[in-house]
Amino acid sequence: MSDLLKILFPPRCPACRKVMEADGTYIHEECRHKFRQITEPRCFKCGRSLKNEEEALCPECRQKKHSYSYGFCLYEYNETARTAMIDFKSNGIRRNGDFFIKGIIDELGPRIKRMNPEALVPVPVTGKRKSERGFNQSEYLAKGIGEALGICVDSDILYRVGISKEQKKLSGRERSAISLTGFEAVEDMQYKRICLVDDVYTTGSTLEGCTRALQKSGAEEVGFVTVFSGDMF
Ligand SMILES: [Zn+2]
Ligand SMILES: [Zn+2]
Repeated sequence: MSDLLKILFPPRCPACRKVMEADGTYIHEECRHKFRQITEPRCFKCGRSLKNEEEALCPECRQKKHSYSYGFCLYEYNETARTAMIDFKSNGIRRNGDFFIKGIIDELGPRIKRMNPEALVPVPVTGKRKSERGFNQSEYLAKGIGEALGICVDSDILYRVGISKEQKKLSGRERSAISLTGFEAVEDMQYKRICLVDDVYTTGSTLEGCTRALQKSGAEEVGFVTVFSGDMF
């Protein structure tokens, strides 16, 4: 960052938004706890904390058959998370994205590597949203993670397809019966193992839609990594 930019936009703490010393750290030491890390044991499929360490899957994943085969999430989605994400996505504070990327690499990097994905694929945003914000936050995250872990990032194989107003009224089950997921993947896709990248895991329906689209195009194992997990908003 140039000196002028530093004066105009001094680095701010992603948690409390106060100006930080330019000492290379991303967050105040005393603010770290405001991002609540998801602790072990975690559900292998959705990445959430498990109450019972005897089990590999959470109650929801035991009941619901998700198409993705694994999932990793870094933090719980709380108020601090929400604000930091808005700053990143809507206010364009990429430093927050860099902070999330570092957290994922440090905490989840070895697990992601172990799944041996051939590509990281960011969850696409709508063209309208991308042009409003100028960037896709998931792609930004994927690029940072991919670079650090030595995994290629492919943003060109998965895209959103429009769902009409009438189709939106259908229930989840009706939609999936006619395989309306809102996503499609290119037909001549070469990857067998893919790790999706998104900002927040809530109900999992977006990641489910992406997974099905990729599987339709030949992917055999699809997992995901997100910064946050939660459904409080
Ligand atoms: Zn702070
Ligand atoms: Zn689960």
